[in-house]
Amino acid sequence: MRIVEIREVAVHLDQAIANAVVDFSRHTISLVALVSDQVRNGRAVCGVAFNSIGRFAQSGIVQDRLIPRIAAMPPEDYAGTDGTLSPARLARAMMRDEKPGGHGDRASAIAAIELAAWDLKAKLLDEPAFSTVARAFGRDHSIGMHVYAAGGYYHPDDGINRLRGELNGYREAGFTDVKIKIGGAPWSQDAARIEAAIEVFGSAARVAVDANGRFGRTQATGLGRELAQYGLRWYEEPCDPLDYSTLRELSQSYPHPLATGENLFSLPDSINLLRYGGMRPGVDIFQMDAGLSYGLTEYAGIIAALEAAGHDRSQAMPHGGHMINLHIVAGLNLGGCEAYPAVFQPFGGYLPDLVIENGMINLPQQPGFGLEFKPELAPHIERLIA
Ligand code: MG
Repeated sequence: MRIVEIREVAVHLDQAIANAVVDFSRHTISLVALVSDQVRNGRAVCGVAFNSIGRFAQSGIVQDRLIPRIAAMPPEDYAGTDGTLSPARLARAMMRDEKPGGHGDRASAIAAIELAAWDLKAKLLDEPAFSTVARAFGRDHSIGMHVYAAGGYYHPDDGINRLRGELNGYREAGFTDVKIKIGGAPWSQDAARIEAAIEVFGSAARVAVDANGRFGRTQATGLGRELAQYGLRWYEEPCDPLDYSTLRELSQSYPHPLATGENLFSLPDSINLLRYGGMRPGVDIFQMDAGLSYGLTEYAGIIAALEAAGHDRSQAMPHGGHMINLHIVAGLNLGGCEAYPAVFQPFGGYLPDLVIENGMINLPQQPGFGLEFKPELAPHIERLIA
């Protein structure tokens, strides 16, 4: 199997929403297609993926470094011992001439292509990606999966009634758990938002909050004291993602679960979190995201590191509520998946025929990640591979 061409396009998110630090109305995402030399039903089989959400498209790195690097390789460089496409070897080959460390935008550029290789591999086997992933990592894939609605962003012309309406919509759609943003408004307003979410979902244990790494030590621990009264599902990214000292302090003082990891982009960074962040086995939640951290190969290594440090893989719930992570969570038997039912289109959310009941979702059966079957994304993919 040979990759004959790689295409990439930057796609704009189509919504004006914000968290405590980012206005997403200006954000883009890299959509990539690996065109193979294999033909099914008269068309070349293409692997399609994107680089998660929240770190902008990586057109420069993809087009200037990665595509020429792969084009110059013989196919044996990305083939496994059985001769089939090896996403792990492709990821390693993409790192040629790259120094270690500094895992920033490069990590999500490589991730987009590595994930497209998983999509291609699954399509060549004519099976959903979770099957391919489970087999590759020696797991039996999950049957149904827990998903929670991630929303409660700050909107222009925001108000508590708009938020309440949004959250009621998630309940009606079958979700039992929700996450909302905090830290982008004064505490009195955020407290009202949290209390509205608790009221709609019936219990604080059903409501998580996300401060998006906005706060320094004093504010993060101060907010922890305010939040402790509620007993929330988790308190996410209370401080800078690399401030392991503050995380450790919070893990010793905040009595309920903390969550972090979506802004760590590598196995070495994750190991540092495990060594120095005070994360509590059986309590805290890990949100590293394959689409932001060199792809699934690196991500599976991160899960193995969590387990080696005494944590359970059910504590892993990756950032990013979209089809790619749904397959990864199912294939690796992780604790659950974020869902973006109403935000981050055309990438966010799942296929329309995947019914959510009681916070559980059935698995998609289309080959690969099934991105072509998502109505909002299909036209972008069709244009890219036409
Ligand atoms: Mg988050």
